[in-house]
Amino acid sequence: MDHLDGNVLAGPSTDLFAFEATTTQCQCQSCADIAMLGQAMVYGQPMGFVARCRNCDNVLIVIVERAGQKSLNMRGLRWLRVADQATNDRI
Ligand SMILES: [Zn+2]
Repeated sequence: MDHLDGNVLAGPSTDLFAFEATTTQCQCQSCADIAMLGQAMVYGQPMGFVARCRNCDNVLIVIVERAGQKSLNMRGLRWLRVADQATNDRI
């Protein structure tokens, strides 16, 4: 099955977060790989997206869109690091 680039999550994740999630760093719960969410392998499905670790294929996050609502499961992440806006503006 072909996968999409993690950047395809920009729209759905922006609806859930007040920050651009694809440029945040996260760590895989399974293999401890650290990468930007935009580097994940994403599989699109009619009801949402599954983002898998680029290193070990662990499911990092699942976004399900149904009946006008979005659900997010992030159990495959050890952590997600979000820089505050003031920090981003200085870089
Ligand atoms: Zn992994």
